[in-house]
This record gives sequence, structure tokens and C-alpha cells, in this order.
Amino acid sequence: MPKTTVTPDPRRAVPATDTLLRDPRLLAALDRLGPTVVRRAVTAAQDRARRGEISPTDVADAAVSALPRRPTTLRPIVNATGVLVHTNLGRAVLSPAARSAVGVACGATDIEYDLSTGLRGRRASGLAAALADAVPAAEDVHVVNNNAAALVLAATALARGGEIVISRGELVEIGDAFRIPELLESTGARLREVGTTNRTSIRDYRDAVGPATAFVLKVHPSNFRVEGFTRGVGVAELAALPVPVVFDIGSGLLAPEPALPDEPDADSALRAGAALVTASGDKLLGGPQAGLLLGRRELVARLRRHPIARALRLDKLTAAALEATLRGPAPPTLASLRVPLPRLGFRADAMALRLVGHGIDARVVESWAVVGAGGAPGVRLPSRAVSLDERLAVPLRRLDPAVVGHLDGGRLLLDLRSIPEDLDETVCAAVVAAASGNGSG
Ligand SMILES: *Cc1c(COP(=O)(O)O)cnc(C)c1O
Repeated sequence: MPKTTVTPDPRRAVPATDTLLRDPRLLAALDRLGPTVVRRAVTAAQDRARRGEISPTDVADAAVSALPRRPTTLRPIVNATGVLVHTNLGRAVLSPAARSAVGVACGATDIEYDLSTGLRGRRASGLAAALADAVPAAEDVHVVNNNAAALVLAATALARGGEIVISRGELVEIGDAFRIPELLESTGARLREVGTTNRTSIRDYRDAVGPATAFVLKVHPSNFRVEGFTRGVGVAELAALPVPVVFDIGSGLLAPEPALPDEPDADSALRAGAALVTASGDKLLGGPQAGLLLGRRELVARLRRHPIARALRLDKLTAAALEATLRGPAPPTLASLRVPLPRLGFRADAMALRLVGHGIDARVVESWAVVGAGGAPGVRLPSRAVSLDERLAVPLRRLDPAVVGHLDGGRLLLDLRSIPEDLDETVCAAVVAAASGNGSG
């Protein structure tokens, strides 16, 4: 008689994949997350049982609890940093109107179709109309992937083989080591730098403009400020030169914003004589990533017809979100810029009071918010923050949604100006969870 094993091989007791995939929870997850993700969770749980880390009877439960919540690795975050347009956190937070417009655009839509004739229509004509309404001084508009693409299109279509005249005070690095001068030169245009870092006069421009000049480019220094003995030349003065003036305003304000009196806006720039304005969609405009080109009809037409325009084309989700941002109520970025200080104080008091009620060391402090890399360098916006023990920073980042504040003098500050008001509850609950050591979500 062959000898029988006394202890059964635990590997034989591990349920098979097909058996596990009949578990209703895993079946539902297949619909929600797809087979790759679910099978990976199942395999990992089986492996843990084979290694003896869990009992074979717990494999299904282990697979279920290892499933990700959603089919993307992107995690939602509450921006409590006090930086309103935070590039690392995806810049502008979209308005509810923009979010629901994206929902519509996810299906088949008339993005490029005329429902009355049944024929092909102009792409995203509703967006163009919304932009034209928002910027009355623009004769025509064109929208591309981002502001960098807008500059590439302008340089390629208007200045390839020619010269772009630009002040040395406006040779901007926009972040992550990307530099506007290098971006422009990559198109085959030549840069003609004029003036010095701190001072450029209209004479510098006049001396440089000649037959090779395609346009004068003015770039808003949106992420730094030069102070002291400085001088620049405004659009109105540049507009008297015999070449078009292209103005990269950066932030994407379409009209003057009382809360930021020094920040340029598209309508005023065109009225002052700019031939073309370029701007981002996801900074102060408060919309999705996009590059706006607004200005003279004949210039915009040249941009739209250039072959490279097709490679920089806006996708339908962005077109829908941008149109809704322009037509809908003030998006969260502009709303947080405008919210009065007493309102922030009221919200901070309420939040701190509730946290103290949970035995948490929370107090309200004065703070300063900033627009961020999106614009208005050097402008400090008065704000209020809830100050917490800095050891809460890590558990708060582990939650879902994660809460990201900023560390200051050994304290963690949650700045109310960058937190959308409808998330105050979420932030409170997150701090309570983080303080109770329940920081895994
Ligand atoms: C942010 C910025 C850009 C780049 O815009 P993207 O939309 O990020 O491509 C270009 N110019 C200026 C002045 C900016 O502030």
C-alpha cells in the first residue's frame, strides 16, 4: 500500500480561478473594472494562500478587498494647499456644468455634424460661439491642445523661416524645464531677442523689426516677477509697429478680473491692439487643458488651415468641457479667487470646532493663498487655514480622496481658499479618520 500524506497539500485546497470568478462580487467587478484587473487580484490572493499567508477559504474575500475602487490609477485629491491652480494636482478643478458636458460628449454627438442638414458641420462650433461671446474683441477663435501648442501653431504658420522679435525680459521657462524660446525655435522660426532682462524699450523693438520679422511676441511673465529698475513695453505701444503683435497672456483670463487687477486678459489685450492672443484653458479660466487663439480673422484662418493644426486638434471631451465652462456659472477656480475672507473664516471656524469636538488639536490661523504657476506671480490672497499636527500629513495623503495641505513651521495647514466649499464635510471626515489612525481609507 502506498503511504498516504497526513497533511493535505494546501495548494490543492486553493480555489480555482473559474470557481472564484463565479463569486457575485468578483462577477460585478468584472463589469466595473474589466478582466485584467480582476484576474490580477484573484491570482495575487491565490498566491498568498499558496504561501500560507491566508487560509484557502479566505481567497475570495482577499481578492475582493484587493480590488481597486475604480478603473484608473488616478486618485481624487482635495487641494488644501492654498495654491489655486496647482499644476501637480491637475490645475483647474472643473465646474459641475463642465463635468456633465463631458458625460454627454462621451457618447456619439454632433461635434462635427449638422443635425438640420444631415451633413458634416464645423467642428465644435458651439465652443467657438461661446468664446466669441466671452471675448467680443476677437474676430475669430481657434482652440488647440494647450497654450504651448497654440504658440507652436502661431510660430509654424506665421513665422517659419522668419523672425519673432521678443524681449529678453520675457524669455520664460514655463515649468518642468520647458522653455518658450526653445519651443518657438523648434518650429523653424528664428528668435530676435531685444532689450535686457530688466529693461526693454520701444526703440529696441523698432530697431529690430524689419523685412524678416513675422511678428512681435509678448509673453506674460506668469510665474515670476522682476522688481526694481525695470521697464517693459505695453501692447498698445507695440501695436504701432508695422508687424502683428502676438500676446501670450498665459493665465486665460478672458475679461478683467477685479481680484487680480494686474493680470492681463484677452479682451483688453485685443482692444489694446494685439493681433493674436494665446492662453491656457486650465489656469485662471478654470476649464480643461486647452490652448486658446483669439484675434484677427485672417491670422486665425491661416492657423486653422495649416497642416499642423490637425495634429494639435482639440478632442471632443475637452471641447464640451470648455464650452460648458464658458457658458456655465463661474468655475471653482474663479469662485475661490473671489470668495470673501469672512466666508473663509466662517468655514474654517466651523471645521476647527468640529475637529476639536473629536478631540483633535485644530486651530484657525491666518494664511495666504496664491494663484500658482497659473498666473499673478507675487499676488498673495488673504485666506484662513485650519492648522493641525503635521504628523497628520501622511495619513491624510493615504485617504481616498487624499487631502493635500501644506507644511508650515511644524504644522499642517489646510487652506480654505483652495478647498471647494462643498468638500468641507469631506475634509472634516478625512481629518477625523486620519487622526483615529484609520488612514487606509
Ligand atoms: C502656462 C503658460 C504657458 C504654457 O501653457 P500650457 O497650457 O501649459 O501649454 C505658456 N505661456 C505662459 C505665459 C504660461 O503662463
